[in-house]
Amino acid sequence: AHLERIRQVEPKVKAFTLVTDELALKQAREADRRFASGENLSPLTGIPIAIKDLICTKDITTTCSSRMLANFKPPFDATVMQHLNATGIVMVGKTNMDEFAMGSSTEHSAFFPTHNPWDLERAPGGSSGGSAAAVAAGMAMGAYGSDTGGSIRQPASLCNVVGLKPTYGRVSRFGLVAFASSLDQIGPFARNARDAAILLQAIAGPDASDSTCSPQPAQDYSAALTGSIKGLRIGVPKEYRIEGMPEEIVQATQASVELLRSMGAEIKEVSLPHTKYGIAAYYIIAPAEASANLARYDGVKYGYSYRDTTDMWEAMEKTRENGFGAEVKRRIMLGTFALSAGYYDAYYKQAEKVRSLITQDFERAFKDCDALVSPATPGVAFKLGEISDPYQMYLQDVFTIPANLAGICGVSIPGGFSNGLPIGLQLLGNAFAEDIILRIADTFE
Ligand code: GLN
Repeated sequence: AHLERIRQVEPKVKAFTLVTDELALKQAREADRRFASGENLSPLTGIPIAIKDLICTKDITTTCSSRMLANFKPPFDATVMQHLNATGIVMVGKTNMDEFAMGSSTEHSAFFPTHNPWDLERAPGGSSGGSAAAVAAGMAMGAYGSDTGGSIRQPASLCNVVGLKPTYGRVSRFGLVAFASSLDQIGPFARNARDAAILLQAIAGPDASDSTCSPQPAQDYSAALTGSIKGLRIGVPKEYRIEGMPEEIVQATQASVELLRSMGAEIKEVSLPHTKYGIAAYYIIAPAEASANLARYDGVKYGYSYRDTTDMWEAMEKTRENGFGAEVKRRIMLGTFALSAGYYDAYYKQAEKVRSLITQDFERAFKDCDALVSPATPGVAFKLGEISDPYQMYLQDVFTIPANLAGICGVSIPGGFSNGLPIGLQLLGNAFAEDIILRIADTFE
């Protein structure tokens, strides 16, 4: 049924870089066999799932929507894929994204943009726009993406699905193509919080292959969905409201806060005073890490290689000139500059100090609160081609970036509509409090 749905709507939505229909049918037959024997069943056995095209899938192209990796077939599975294959998922395909996860609209894909299923002229958000669109359009029951500064929560918000960024270290990054290693996390997209809990459970937990993955075992997320939020203390950060935000988003967030109050939550106003420096710090730290991570694409070890020369330097330069798109090059230049001698103290070190201040803001807030609530994005889905200024695009993540800088968890859930376009509500939780934000999300539905 999902493959049929893909045949119908994928030509319009273009959520996938690759539809793995043969593999899906093979995995579906294997799932049938598991059901018949009653062996090895998991809640995800036989469930059609889409995977963002930066999670390594053995012998299946993993392109990061970049010319650089257009033909790259990893010789191994990411830890997350090993877990998912063990549960017996049916992988329906790899999803489109902004090149190397840099962007907020999926327009930076080297291949084609993805369209928002709610309005095909609009962007689905990004960078995990393909994963969000696949779930929103019913082409997969769930999907996985990655979130470095908002790339799960922002597209989830624009496509009206649930999207969760786990705590840094909750999910293994082994086999996730690195963008900014101190910020990246893999997380699920789902139609509701209960599904998100199941999808998170399947991938959360320690991993010896990733030294930044927490040794702490994962909680039982489905058991955490008690249906009651009575007595939970939920903070409303007063800084999460910016000038020029559509009135509908402010009102939808207020309405959600009232709903949470009526369900028995204790609502408190909190202050996260360093929020306004989040974007500036992020756009030093993330490009700095990216410039180091992307140094490996030299035409020798991976993917695309310019061979039409006998000069080694020219080969490397042409490989990178032809292989990377404009936004990726912008980040490499920004990052290299910020890390260079003489500028390191002024930019990178300063940004790391700001990062500590943002982390301390959250630590203070979570002394009095179990969770925080805010809009997920400062606007609704924008038209494809509408935002051409990179800085305007960077502002998309104003409410999501602080959580990555602090390493805490967050989820975007459907929170209303403005002129037929979805509005996302963000719930932020302390480190390893995925159980709490999922409980609130589930009760809220
Ligand atoms: N939009 C942000 C960026 O372009 C975040 C991307 C992400 O989370 N991968 O960096």
